[in-house]
Formats: sequence, structure tokens, C-alpha cells
Amino acid sequence: MAEVSRVERAPDDLFLKIVAGEIPATIVHSDEQVVAFEDVAPRAPVHVLVVPRERYENVAELAAAAPQVLARLVQVAQQIADERCGGEYRLVFNTGTAVGQSVFHVHGHVLGGRDFEWPPG
Ligand code: 5GP
Repeated sequence: MAEVSRVERAPDDLFLKIVAGEIPATIVHSDEQVVAFEDVAPRAPVHVLVVPRERYENVAELAAAAPQVLARLVQVAQQIADERCGGEYRLVFNTGTAVGQSVFHVHGHVLGGRDFEWPPG
């Protein structure tokens, strides 16, 4: 029986389509576990999204199902921040629409290259 692709199983998952190369994106890192690409609407001079190749809805789901992939995601976020903004950055996982999650495929926002306010708005 033919294998059903991940995109076919989750047809509305925008980030799966980017991972599969079906939607263009500026890819800055790719390995067996995670892919990183430039955010299409950057909120800071450095704004990269790091996503697992498999679909998990949010960071807690990823941590429970595949903690090694979450660890890799954080490692790649650090590498990107080291290269682009001296290792000083904010790593954000929005969880839920009330706090701004709009894509339900877990993604870490790597934000840096400017000063940030605390607490975030
Ligand atoms: P969220 O709001 O879910 O935390 O973050 C989703 C992010 O995905 C937003 O920062 C948004 O700008 C970004 N985004 C939405 N659509 C696309 C797209 O088609 N390509 C890229 N590269 N980023 C996208």
C-alpha cells in the first residue's frame, strides 16, 4: 500500500508544506529532526522559526511525545542566535489563540537583534 505523506494527513498544516518544499520559504537550517526558516513578517531584525519535521500542535505536545526533537529545536535556535545576534535572543512558543498562536504546528520564534520590552505585550 502506498504511504500517505504527512502533508496529505494534515492538509492545512502550513509548516508541513514548508518542510516538504511545497510552499517557498527562506530555509536557514535543515536536518533530520528540525527545519528553520525566516518568518515571512519579521518582528525583529532576527526572526527565524524553528519547527519539527513532524506535526505537534504545541510545545507541550512535542515535549511529551519527542523530547529529543525539542532539545534539538532549542540547540538550533541557539546556533542561529549565536551566528546572528551574539547569542542574545528571545525564544517564544505561543500556545493558544489567546496569546497569539496562529499556526498549530509547534514553532519556536527566535527573535533578536534589537532591544525587547519586559513583560511582552
Ligand atoms: P504564531 O502566531 O503561530 O506564534 O506564529 C506564526 C508565525 O508564522 C508568524 O510570525 C507569521 O508571520 C509566520 N508565518 C505565517 N505564514 C507564513 C508563511 O507562509 N511563511 C513564513 N515563512 N512564515 C509564516
